[in-house]
Amino acid sequence: MSFTDLQPLFPADLFGDNPIILAGPCSAESESQILEAARALSAEGIKIFRAGVWKPRTKPGGFEGIGSPALAWLAKAKEATGMLTATEVANARHLEEAVASGIDVIWIGARTSANPFAVQEIADAIAQLPAERRDSLAVLVKNPVNPDLELWIGALERLYGAGVRRLGAIHRGFSSYGKHLYRNPPKWRIPIELHRRLPEIPVICDPSHIGGKRELIAPLSQQALDMNFDGLIIESHCRPDEALSDAAQQLTPSSLSFILHSLKRHTDTTTTESLGVLRQQIDRLDTELLELLAKRMRVARDIGRYKREHNMPVVQLGRYNDLMQKRVDDGVTLDLSVDFLRNILAAIHEESVRQQLEICSNDNEGEEPKQ
Ligand code: PEP
Ligand code: MN
Repeated sequence: MSFTDLQPLFPADLFGDNPIILAGPCSAESESQILEAARALSAEGIKIFRAGVWKPRTKPGGFEGIGSPALAWLAKAKEATGMLTATEVANARHLEEAVASGIDVIWIGARTSANPFAVQEIADAIAQLPAERRDSLAVLVKNPVNPDLELWIGALERLYGAGVRRLGAIHRGFSSYGKHLYRNPPKWRIPIELHRRLPEIPVICDPSHIGGKRELIAPLSQQALDMNFDGLIIESHCRPDEALSDAAQQLTPSSLSFILHSLKRHTDTTTTESLGVLRQQIDRLDTELLELLAKRMRVARDIGRYKREHNMPVVQLGRYNDLMQKRVDDGVTLDLSVDFLRNILAAIHEESVRQQLEICSNDNEGEEPKQ
């Protein structure tokens, strides 16, 4: 499916050339908490206020959100500040209630986007909305909890298919087993691949749910801007330590504002002459690298023929371990990282083995392809 007639996510004058920013508490807890946070964030220049009304919790017993009554608090916050409002919906009823109460932006949470039945149910409810309401609704789709790009794209396609034209994606990291620096490791390769496949869909980064701790919000936000994400969604609470959900990752409105002002933006996308020269060097070096790799594989195939003639096994573990250790040691002295060296050397070795196995299994091996 191609997303050919998308509309801008938000009115052009809301952010201009600056990144899209949504901020607000993880959860709506009380009317006073919502109004206080909305006023403080609006005073810091925030234009879109987020708050979760229905909260998906991993286990029962946690704070599962106030539910429908909190929608009226968001409507009051909108009236008091003029901010747009955003909340999470997980089924058709949530969607209908959120739209009826004047919510401008909905997001589909990571647990919901992993479930095609739920996403389709929401998409069908959106398709039933009056055309002008559907046209004005901005819909953001978080990545599914599991690192499955096709599932994420599938959810975006279901919404586009239902007539959503203000459509964006939120990268919030991916669940993983065990202890990590991040609550949900970012696996940047996945949102970057999403952008490559669907360049017309804006991608917003959620450093709060990736990091899980206040200290990580600034560096993650900077990384997202360095990678040219279109915006950020960040959790903010006036008394973060008292928050009923996600206390460790919420920032006060003033710390949030401090971070946003300290982020370095990359506004210059024109290619200077010196960058052009450097890129030409990279192109040449990549060509040389590919030629070298092809040369190495030719030698590997010769070794494969020798092994076949002498009835030797293709993989000799001792030789592999020695080679790996020696190359990693050499590479480290050239300022390359151990992880990078291990990955690249293992990939090269795997391809050599594949080519040698091909030779050993092919007794009538023909001529070498001419280079
Ligand atoms: C949230 O944004 O409050 C939320 C529950 O996020 P996620 O779906 O990314 O866990
Ligand atoms: Mn949260």
